[in-house]
Amino acid sequence: MTSTRDARSAQPAVEVRPNTGPWYQLHEVDDGVVRITEPHVAKLVKANLWWLRGTDRDIVVDAGLGVAALRREIPLLFERDPLVILTHAHLDHAGGAQEFRERAAHEAAAEVLAKGMPASLYGAELHAKLGIEAAREAVPDLLIDALPHAAYDPRTYQLGPMTVTHPLRDGDTIDVGGRTLTVRHLPGHTPGCIALHEQRTGALYSGDVVYNGHLIDDLPESDPSDYRRSLQHLADLDVSVVHPGHGRSFGPRRLRELTQCYLLGSEAIR
Ligand SMILES: [Zn+2]
Repeated sequence: MTSTRDARSAQPAVEVRPNTGPWYQLHEVDDGVVRITEPHVAKLVKANLWWLRGTDRDIVVDAGLGVAALRREIPLLFERDPLVILTHAHLDHAGGAQEFRERAAHEAAAEVLAKGMPASLYGAELHAKLGIEAAREAVPDLLIDALPHAAYDPRTYQLGPMTVTHPLRDGDTIDVGGRTLTVRHLPGHTPGCIALHEQRTGALYSGDVVYNGHLIDDLPESDPSDYRRSLQHLADLDVSVVHPGHGRSFGPRRLRELTQCYLLGSEAIR
């Protein structure tokens, strides 16, 4: 483990300006669903938060990178004491989760979160901490292109241990009034990956299990055979729309293409 002083002296000098507008952008989808994005975050760790309004309570699926305080930037988000559900234990999805009173995640992810996650806002250092040997594409020195406020020091970014108050298993349901999500345990990217399936609408909140892009199955904690089984399992679900952990939503046809592409690709290298 690198000491704070060593880590600081090792960081490249990067000039970034304080952000002048809002840190988070809110995009109204429909049916009481809002997609929240972080435009100043580099692609590698730019993840979606999904704010779902129930009649009794709200749910927030994933919590972003945790660089800018959600409570300060989007006070309305916390008006109804929302439950945050983490699709898995990676910094870009769980970084802001400490701000919520109640946190839910798969029990395998809960074990990782209890220990604290590897984290850095510096591309090279993050790769080293995550155990990624070679970058698939050029990673910027610094993973944010603005500071959330003038006094923010990106060298201080870290994610300490956090307790999951609601450990989840496959088949569990979460009901917040007018909106019930079923937990689907879909390991592969990480052992504790889940997706959340809303039976009434057919919406699937997929985290990093599937999104429009290269699916990552080569992290030290990844398991490509589990990933194959998870994607095959997705084919059995009645999905109307996928709200992924990264990028824009897509329909069932694109879901089939993406899963087939992975299954055929991983077959080809077997
Ligand atoms: Zn991930």
